Amino acid sequence: MTAVDPILKNCRSMVLNPHHRRAYLQSVSARSCGIIGYFSNYIPAEIIAAAGFHPLRLIGCFGSVSGPALCDPMCSFVQDFYATQCSGLADLLTGLVFPNSCDSLKVLRQVWQTRPDGPQCWTLDHPVNTDGPALLYLTSQLRRLASELAAASRSTVSDEKLHAAITEYNTIRGLLRQCYAKVEARRLRYSDLLAVATAGLMLDRNEFTRMLQEFAGSSLSQPLSGNPVMLAGPLTDDLELVGALENHGACIVGDSVTNGWRYCSQDIATGGDIYTKIAQHILSQASPTAFDLHRPSLAARAAELGACGIIFLNQERCEPHVHSYVKCAAELEQQSIKTLLIEVEHGRPGLQARDLMRIESFMELL
Ligand code: SF4
Repeated sequence: MTAVDPILKNCRSMVLNPHHRRAYLQSVSARSCGIIGYFSNYIPAEIIAAAGFHPLRLIGCFGSVSGPALCDPMCSFVQDFYATQCSGLADLLTGLVFPNSCDSLKVLRQVWQTRPDGPQCWTLDHPVNTDGPALLYLTSQLRRLASELAAASRSTVSDEKLHAAITEYNTIRGLLRQCYAKVEARRLRYSDLLAVATAGLMLDRNEFTRMLQEFAGSSLSQPLSGNPVMLAGPLTDDLELVGALENHGACIVGDSVTNGWRYCSQDIATGGDIYTKIAQHILSQASPTAFDLHRPSLAARAAELGACGIIFLNQERCEPHVHSYVKCAAELEQQSIKTLLIEVEHGRPGLQARDLMRIESFMELL
C-alpha cells in the first residue's frame, strides 16, 4: 500500500458511489450556506464559492437509481441526473446553475423549473461569439449571476472574496497540470488522475488542495508501457471504462475532456476587472457545445502528446459531441491518427462485451 492509496480510494468512491457522495455532501452542507450544483466548465465555480455556497460539479450515478425518464432524445447523462434527483438521492442541492449550451440541458432546465419541489435554478446566458461585444455581454451576465447568488445566500460577493476563490482554484489547476506532466511522462496512471480530478470538482476545495499536494508528489518507479493514446469527449466519469482501456493495452497520455485537461489547462488571470478576467477565461474555453470555431485542433494536441490514436468517449445521444466527432475524425484520418468512438450510457452499469471487443481490436490496430 502506498501513501496515496487512501486518497485514490476516497476519490474513486466519490465518483463511483453515489451513496458515499451523498454522505460526504451532507457533512459539507452543514458547514456552508448550501450546495449549488452546476453542469459545465462555463459556469465559474469561483463565483458560487465566493457567494458562500459549496460548488458541486454534477456527475453521473451509473444506473444505481431508477426513476422517471425525460422525453427522448435526451442524452443519458441528463436522463441519469433527472432520475437521481427525482429519487431523492440528490435532494441536498440548494440550487442549480445551467449553462445556455446543449438542447438536453435546456430541456432539463425547463422541466425542472416547472417542478414545485425542485431546487432554485439560475442560467448563465453566455454569448455565441467571442468578440468585444460578447466579452462585455458575458461580463454583465457574470455580475448578474454573482448578485443573484449573493441574494440567495444573503451575503455579498466582494472582489476580495472572488479573488481569494480564484487564487485557490488556480492553485488546484496548477497542481493538476503537474499531475498531467507525469501522465504524459508515463509516471502516473491516467485513470488515477481522472478519479482525483473528478472528485476534486465535488470535494471541499481546501481539503482537496491538501490531498492534491500529496498526490502530485507521487510518481511510479517504472514508466508505464502500452500504446500512447489520448481521450476526448464531454464529462468523462466512467472510471471503469477508462480502467478497461488501460488494462487492454492503452497508455493514456492526455485528454481533451471537460473534467480533465479542459478544466485545468489555463488559470483565470487576475489583475484588472475580475469579472472581465473570468469572462475572458470562459470565452477561451472552446468546446463542441460553445465557441467551437475557435477550438484548437485535436490532431495538434495528439502530436504534442505523441499519441497515435484518440478514443472518443461520448455520452449516448449527446448531439454536440457526436457532430464534433464526425468533423474531427475526418481531419484526424488525414493525419493518420486512428480514432475509436465509444458511447457511454449512464443508466447502464458495467462494461458491455461489444465495447471490450472494440477496444481490443483498436489496440491491435494501433
Ligand atoms: S453529454 Fe452532451 S448532451 Fe449531455 S449534457 Fe453534456 S454536452 Fe449536453
